[in-house]
Amino acid sequence: MLKIYNTLTSKLEEFKSRKKNEVDMYVCGPTVYNYIHIGNARPIIFFDTVRRYLEYKGYKVNYVQNFTDIDDKMINKANEEGKSVKEIAEKFIGEYFKDTKPLNIKESTTKHPKATEYIGKMIKLVKELQEKGYAYESNGDVYFDVFSDKEYGKLSHQKVEDLISGARIEVNENKKNPLDFTLWKKAKENEPKWNSPWGEGRPGWHLECSVMSMDEFGETFDIHGGGQDLIFPHHENEIAQSECSTGKKFANYWMHNGYINIKGEKMSKSKGNFFLLREILEKYNGRILRFFVLSSHYRKPIEFSEDELKMAKTGLERIETFMKRIKLLINNPIENMEQSENKYLKEQLVIFKDKFEDGMDNDFNSSKSLGAIFELIKDLNKFLDKESNPEIYKNDLNEIYNLIKTILEDVFGVELELETKIEDNLTNELVELLLEIRFKAKNMKNWELADTIRNRLKKLNIVLKDGKDKTTWEIQN
Ligand SMILES: [Zn+2]
Repeated sequence: MLKIYNTLTSKLEEFKSRKKNEVDMYVCGPTVYNYIHIGNARPIIFFDTVRRYLEYKGYKVNYVQNFTDIDDKMINKANEEGKSVKEIAEKFIGEYFKDTKPLNIKESTTKHPKATEYIGKMIKLVKELQEKGYAYESNGDVYFDVFSDKEYGKLSHQKVEDLISGARIEVNENKKNPLDFTLWKKAKENEPKWNSPWGEGRPGWHLECSVMSMDEFGETFDIHGGGQDLIFPHHENEIAQSECSTGKKFANYWMHNGYINIKGEKMSKSKGNFFLLREILEKYNGRILRFFVLSSHYRKPIEFSEDELKMAKTGLERIETFMKRIKLLINNPIENMEQSENKYLKEQLVIFKDKFEDGMDNDFNSSKSLGAIFELIKDLNKFLDKESNPEIYKNDLNEIYNLIKTILEDVFGVELELETKIEDNLTNELVELLLEIRFKAKNMKNWELADTIRNRLKKLNIVLKDGKDKTTWEIQN
């Protein structure tokens, strides 16, 4: 049974989709005014993994992640660069896809609506809110009146009165109270603008996500995700706008991922302690970054450093070395050897599958599920070391191999590198050296040493072929 921690109720809840075997899921996407940074990459990777696990469980997932292509940051950037807001949006949407390609996101089944394509529908929603008494116009701006919404604050679990006392004092004579937020903003000179009943202007940021998600899924949908910094005010305001206009529950499950910290501090642009995704990908490939992000539970902060990335790389390589070892056994059955079943391997497979699903079913605890893979590898390596001919359990080993591959590649989206490559000249030199020693051992009739060399190389996927006067070798995959 899949359980999700719902920010709205602060509880771990059993997941029930509205439609049978189908999940509607909306994740807040970036404002496309700059290259994305590692903090943006975490929700992109994590929520893609949520989608993948739901698919593993048999759901069809309708996945939407928007692009915010109009807001203050977009306008400032356009002014800085002497370009139009549209040009900036097009450029950075292009860069977004370039940057995230190595992350192996399931783009083929993702929809990416852009805010500027929904202006008419946004105006309609603002009008509705105004008619129902939840919004008011003031000098060409339209604001949401938070006091009109009895449930305001329910996502962030704060009372309106407390929020007001904690709010920054903002000089804005147009607002009735400082917590009221913008639904429609009057256009200033040289800003992109659209006609509306309140004059020329543009939509507020929070409005965009309410309109795009409800346009795609209807008034209620299953999962709404985003970074925890979006809980207040962005998601709180999305709920207020949507539920006050429809009278229905907006999203059933609210999921929020934790921050990325650098040296214990939240990564932020203002502190200057942030990395662009493309900078990281120059040194570490996307699969390592995915593996790194999924090594922690999504609601916990991740400490980001080169050391942590290196650890993730080592962990992933440990899995790959094990997979290559099994693959070699599967591909090289010794002739004239009967295949056999192995009870221990069968049991291990069942235990491992349970542990993996148990982790993921428990609020997508990918860290626990990855731990189950490492445990399995440790146990099976011990088993293989003891067995003299593990090749005879080819079928059982094959099942284990396929399950690990499915979990890593299909669910975690981490492509495994299972081809053995001759990394550099050093490998060649070392193998040739070992062959020379083995040749000498054979001359001295030290068959035990000669066999040890052959067997140890075989464990590294290096297979020796004794010819008439020369031994050759090859790397087997
Ligand atoms: Zn949003």
